[in-house]
Parts: sequence; C-alpha cells; structure tokens
Amino acid sequence: MVDTPVPDDAVEQLDETVRGSVLEPDQDGYHRARRVWNALIDHRPDLVVRPTGTADVLAAVTIAAEYDLGVSVKGGGHHVSGTAVPDEGVLLDLGEMNAVDVDPAGKVARVQAGATWGDVDHETQAFGLAVPGGQDPNIGVAGLTLGGGVGWLSRKYGLTCDNLRAVELVTAEGELVRATEDEHADLFWGLRGGGGRFGVVTTFEYDLHGVGPDVLAGSLAYPLSDAPDVARHYRDFMADAPPEVRLLFGIMALPPASHFPEHRHGERSVMLVVCYAGPPEEGRPVLEPLRSRGDPFVDSIERRTYKRFQRAGESRGSVRTYLRSQYLESLSDDAIETIRDYGTDGPPNGTTVFVSPRGGAETEPAADATAYPHRDAGHHVLVEARWEDPAADDDHIEWVREFHGALGPYTTDEVAMNFLTGDEPDERRRAAYGGNYERLRALQREWDPDGRFRTTREIDPET
Ligand SMILES: Cc1cc2nc3c(=O)[nH]c(=O)nc-3n(C[C@H](O)[C@H](O)[C@H](O)COP(=O)(O)OP(=O)(O)OC[C@H]3O[C@@H](n4cnc5c(N)ncnc54)[C@H](O)[C@@H]3O)c2cc1C
Repeated sequence: MVDTPVPDDAVEQLDETVRGSVLEPDQDGYHRARRVWNALIDHRPDLVVRPTGTADVLAAVTIAAEYDLGVSVKGGGHHVSGTAVPDEGVLLDLGEMNAVDVDPAGKVARVQAGATWGDVDHETQAFGLAVPGGQDPNIGVAGLTLGGGVGWLSRKYGLTCDNLRAVELVTAEGELVRATEDEHADLFWGLRGGGGRFGVVTTFEYDLHGVGPDVLAGSLAYPLSDAPDVARHYRDFMADAPPEVRLLFGIMALPPASHFPEHRHGERSVMLVVCYAGPPEEGRPVLEPLRSRGDPFVDSIERRTYKRFQRAGESRGSVRTYLRSQYLESLSDDAIETIRDYGTDGPPNGTTVFVSPRGGAETEPAADATAYPHRDAGHHVLVEARWEDPAADDDHIEWVREFHGALGPYTTDEVAMNFLTGDEPDERRRAAYGGNYERLRALQREWDPDGRFRTTREIDPET
C-alpha cells in the first residue's frame, strides 16, 4: 500500500459511503482517472473518488471537510493548465456523471457535470436542438461552461454560460444548492464565467435552440503564400456577416483527412473553416461571396449534420500541448503580417494559429452582466502547439511564446480563462476576470471561506 496523507479512517469512510470507486495510487483505474488532455501535466492526487451521482459528491465533500482535505474537480480534463487535477488532496473525477436529459417541449437540457459536448450533442440533436457548446466532442461541459464557452453557435445564441437556466452545486459545507436568476442570484452570476471555485457543480440546466440536424459547414484550404489575402478576406467578410455565420481563419499542417488531396497531407496551408447556424439553403447565398473569392484548392463546404461537424476537430487521448490566447480589437494589416510570419515558421506538425471573430449575441451582454467579462467585439487569436516527443518540448513552447510576444502590440489586455496555461503570470490570470475580479473574490470568500476547493482555477482570496 502506498502511504498517502489521507488518513485510513477517511478512506474507509469514503469506501463505505460512496457508491462510486475510491482509488488510492496503487489501485487500478487511479492513473486513468488522474489523466488530463495535456500530457505535459502529470499530477498525482492522494486519492481519487469517482462519484456516480450527487449523493456521492455530497458524501465526498462532507468527509473531506471532516478530515480537512483539499478537494478538486475534474470534468472533461481538457483545460490546458491541468488545474482540475492536483498534486495532493482528493480529486473528484466526475466522468461517471454524464447523463443528459432533454425536454424538447420545454427546450431545456439537464446535464450532469461530468458529461462532454459529444454527450450533449448526441441527446439534443435527436430533437434538432442544441446548446451552444465547444467545438470538440471530448471537452467537458463543466470547465467550458464555467469559463464562458465559445463555439459555432455563439454569435447567434451567445456563450455557453449565457445559456444557463440553473446550476446545482455542492457547497464547501456539503449542501446542495440551486442557483438561478432568482435563487442565489449572486452565485449564479459568478458561475457564468467565473470558474468553478465556489463548490462542485453537479448539474447544469441549459436553454436549447433549434439547430440542424443539418447545417451548411466545412472548410476552404489555400496555399501558404495566400495567407495575407485570405486573412483580409476573413476580416472583410466577417465585418458584416450575419450572426448565423462563424468563420475561422487559420494556418496549420493539413491532417490526413479524405477531403484534402493526399499529396498535400502534412503541408502547411491556410484555412477558412465555417459554419452557418441556420437553414442550409438560407446559408448558401450568404456564404457564396466567401467561396467565390481567391483560389482554394479544397472547398468542402456542404450540407452535413451539425453533430458530424462538431466531431471534425476531435481530440482524443492526451497530447503534449502549450498555447497562448489573446484578443485583438481589430485585425490590422500589420497583425496579419505577424500572423503570417510566425504561422509559416512553426515547428512542422501540430503548430496552429486560429483567428476567430467575436460579435453577435456573445458580445451583447454588458461586461458585468455575468462573471465572464470579455464582451467587446473583435477577434480571438489562439496560438497552439501539440506534439508527442518530450525532446521537442522546448522548440514548441518557445515558438508559442515568441509568437505571443510578437502579437503583443496588437492585443488588448483581456485573457480568456479557458485558454490560460499553468505558467501564466498573475496579471494575465487576473485579466481573465477583468473588472469582475473583486466581486468574484468576495463571492469565493462567501462560498468557500476555508479554501476547500483550493486547487481549482485561481481567484486568490488573500491578495
Ligand atoms: C482540444 C481542445 C479544444 C477546445 N475547444 C474549445 C472550444 O471550442 N470552446 C471553448 O470555449 N473552449 C475550448 N477549449 C478550452 C476549454 O473550454 C477548457 O479547456 C475547459 O476548461 C474544458 O472543460 P473540461 O471540463 O474538459 O475541463 P477540466 O480540465 O476538467 O476543468 C477545468 C476547470 O474547471 C473546474 N471544474 C471542472 N468541473 C467542475 C465542476 N463540476 N465543478 C466545479 N469546478 C469544475 C476544474 O477544477 C478546472 O479548474 C478547448 C480545449 C481543448 C484542449
């Protein structure tokens, strides 16, 4: 038996009380439960509990409090910082809590906090309904929603957190509370973009919207030399595109997908990726000017199921990942040149830069209407490296940092919490909360006065 600072009595009590598994470091399933998407993270909590429902979460938090153990929570484990999994204390891995219950008439989905966007899309699309969620089926609903949440539908229907009707969570005192616009309204405000540090969310209730099952979506691919022209095309097209359109501009090595010519697999290319979140026939004339300009060597835009399109960028397993995210007020020609220069020169595979528009419903609420503060129109830039070989760590991390530094003159001082790496300086971590930082600190002191949930995303109550 491996010695852990969790007393035997506590383990015994958890074993007797919870229905899910209680895993010590030498037990089967422990390593799988502690694994996160970013393979650079290798944290080992003292104990893992895999609750099967709210009763288990209530019991685990109560027992942890009795023995003064820190508690952290893993949803889908996709946050690049790996903050979901600590190097000490008790990890609640919610992976077993993934039920999605759809009420098509009431247009509401009740979703357990361990579900992924793939789980949600599967259940909601059976009724031609959707929650505006993330663009990858393996991302957890919990982390993404608690940090804001952008995706193909957010220009039309708002951020994921804007679509919450209610959140149920287990508090540090081991009580289940329900937060809505009317009940615990302040907590509800904080949960919409303020991170998860007020308790363990067990259930989200989301508004549903009529989407699909078919949408008009796909990509256009161009040679690398076209990068500046294509970036300007993206910028000009989005300047007055309707909210149904979300278009991304990016530079990446082409994956070996069947819709890319085989001889171009692995070739660094320029991409436009688009989804029209309305009836496909209405989308055709809207996207026509996008498709007819320039000379793409691939145009895969077609009528396809929303569910399938959501799987297009699917991430599986664990991959070494490093990234930087930043916002631009506008995409100037100088910023485009910088993106072209660095985007062209990245380490050969797995380095990408993607620019996405901010606007429409996602920027309508005031900056203090929810805890998520970044409501100005503009663009988001994500510079990301994914790789396998530990010997290549420095090259990839350096490329991301240098690219990020070069974009500095064009960026605002806002930061998206969902894309913060673990090594970011305090001022960037604070910037993720913008002008809502002090209110969130007060809320955290109120709901977690002893810092029970101390390993989740930082809002430091002491500073
Ligand atoms: C491949 C990839 C694609 C992505 N695509 C998008 C995208 O399209 N749109 C977007 O907005 N973001 C995207 N992201 C970022 C994503 O939103 C964040 O990584 C998000 O935190 C993932 O949620 P998760 O539940 O998987 O994370 P986790 O790593 O499990 O959790 C993240 C944080 O939330 C806390 N938390 C988790 N569950 C709970 C809970 N039940 N109660 C309280 N706190 C909790 C954790 O403790 C941790 O601090 C992407 C990330 C990756 C790696």
